[in-house]
Amino acid sequence: MKKILITGGAGFLGSHLCDRFIKEGYHVIAMDNLITGDLKNLEHLFPLENFEFYNHDVTKFVHVPGDLDYILHFASPASPIDYLKIPIQTLKVGAMGTHNLLGLAKEKQARILIASTSEIYGDPLVHPQTEAYYGNVNTIGPRGVYDEAKRFMESITMAYHRFHGVDTRIVRIFNTYGPRMRLNDGRVIPAFIGQALRGEDLTVFGTGNQTRSFCYVDDEVEGIYRLLLSDYALPINIGNPNEITIKDFAEEIIKLTGTDQKIILKPLPQDDPLQRQPDISKAREILNWEPKVSRADGMAKTYAYFKTLPKDELYKRDHKDFSNYNKD
Ligand code: UDP
Repeated sequence: MKKILITGGAGFLGSHLCDRFIKEGYHVIAMDNLITGDLKNLEHLFPLENFEFYNHDVTKFVHVPGDLDYILHFASPASPIDYLKIPIQTLKVGAMGTHNLLGLAKEKQARILIASTSEIYGDPLVHPQTEAYYGNVNTIGPRGVYDEAKRFMESITMAYHRFHGVDTRIVRIFNTYGPRMRLNDGRVIPAFIGQALRGEDLTVFGTGNQTRSFCYVDDEVEGIYRLLLSDYALPINIGNPNEITIKDFAEEIIKLTGTDQKIILKPLPQDDPLQRQPDISKAREILNWEPKVSRADGMAKTYAYFKTLPKDELYKRDHKDFSNYNKD
């Protein structure tokens, strides 16, 4: 049985990856310090023999006994609100966490796939974004802690690949959504759905003319799965090219939820990218992958999930307490 370590395993993407690799017959070790992740996302896997959970912060030395075939490094805060609250942890998990996991991959002779992001393109001057684009990132702005950590992550991964011959993969993930997103993490989809469910107006930032391209989680996981098993070591965009303005997206949510909320405009956060759309030619060609789930179907499933959450969660602004972090 192949053994895989998934860091950030209790998070949104991490937990879906745990499900997928369990389904494929792997022994899965999920690792998470639960700073933004939630054990509820993994509860259903705990009874399984081929599943283990380690509560560990990957910025500290990572030890896993025995053999390891694969590592997926998905530990990181991923919402702009989170990384504004825990900027130093965000930098550390991208930099020191990645260093520790590359060291582990080298020691175990395991293949490692690291989760990079469309944020490495910053506020892009090239549209849609191909992997060849170097990006337009403000190093010292509020998002810099995430963007630069992910850029460093790619650099150190390529250095381990070239210098130590470690078997590496890099996925650049574009906006992804689906069940298990944290309700109050500030990202646009849980934000809008939460507002609709509470009967509040939908807060569109800026003019709402900025664009995003949303990928349903099952498609994203399929792309990552194929990339891990491919022999391609350079970065690959995995996302859905179907682009929409945030204003139009808010209208779609109002229709989907059947509510009569209005849209209200709020200030645009600093360095909020004005446009984002993946060019997925490489993923199509190399992985024979493209997204299959339409936004209508994906959003219907996502909305159905959020409706099952206990009512009191809807009114908790954020159930995550970061006060014990950021001390070092
Ligand atoms: N956004 C918004 N209202 C909200 C939350 C987000 O208009 O309540 C906008 C945000 O400014 C950005 C887009 O939605 O332009 C996507 O934001 P998100 O935080 O989900 O992720 P990003 O793609 O910026 O990392």
